[in-house]
Amino acid sequence: MRILVVEDDKALGAAITKSLQQAGFAVDWVETARTALQFLTLENFDLLLLDLGLPDSDGYTVVRKLRESGKSLPILILTARDALDDRVRGLDQGADDYVVKPIAMPELHARVRALLRRRMTGGNPSITLKKLVLDTVGRRAYVESRSIDLTAREWSVLEYLVGNSGRIVSKDQLIQAIASWDRELSQNAIEAYVHRIRGKIEGSEVVIKTVRGLGYLLEEPTNAP
Ligand code: CA
Repeated sequence: MRILVVEDDKALGAAITKSLQQAGFAVDWVETARTALQFLTLENFDLLLLDLGLPDSDGYTVVRKLRESGKSLPILILTARDALDDRVRGLDQGADDYVVKPIAMPELHARVRALLRRRMTGGNPSITLKKLVLDTVGRRAYVESRSIDLTAREWSVLEYLVGNSGRIVSKDQLIQAIASWDRELSQNAIEAYVHRIRGKIEGSEVVIKTVRGLGYLLEEPTNAP
């Protein structure tokens, strides 16, 4: 899952970025509203973490412009503790939730997970496909209740494919979904991840098909004879 952090406080931006990266998210960090809007036009993100007080514009403008352009990604705003009006205004403009500064990292992580979950599974923390279960809170996968060992990258690929099950996902989409700009990822690397995941989820009855020239399709086999 890919997150864009917009925060002009360097110490805070770095701390948030590092902490979310350690939790396995692909994170890009920018410091102005203008760069944020450029990034969001060029790339697909799964969530936006947005400071309201930015040097070149305010966060509300970013929220409004995104919603006007039809972008539906979840937006989590960062606001000051006493700024009730800011929070209300941010939510009214189309933000989904807020975290109050000074930020408690565990709370920030929980809100990020909740928003991503709501988008992916309608709020359910675990996803079950046949004998495969993904625990999106603990970021663990199980095949028939047996925990399987996935690296952070493998988890991200599997989570993305499961979140898009029944749809063809291209390698470029996967690269965009799991890698930030500063960490380049090749199509070969994606192939290697998928190959390893296939081995690890064997027995789950969930199949990741290669669709030649297009990408991958995760599908549950039908029970029809
Ligand atoms: Ca600020």
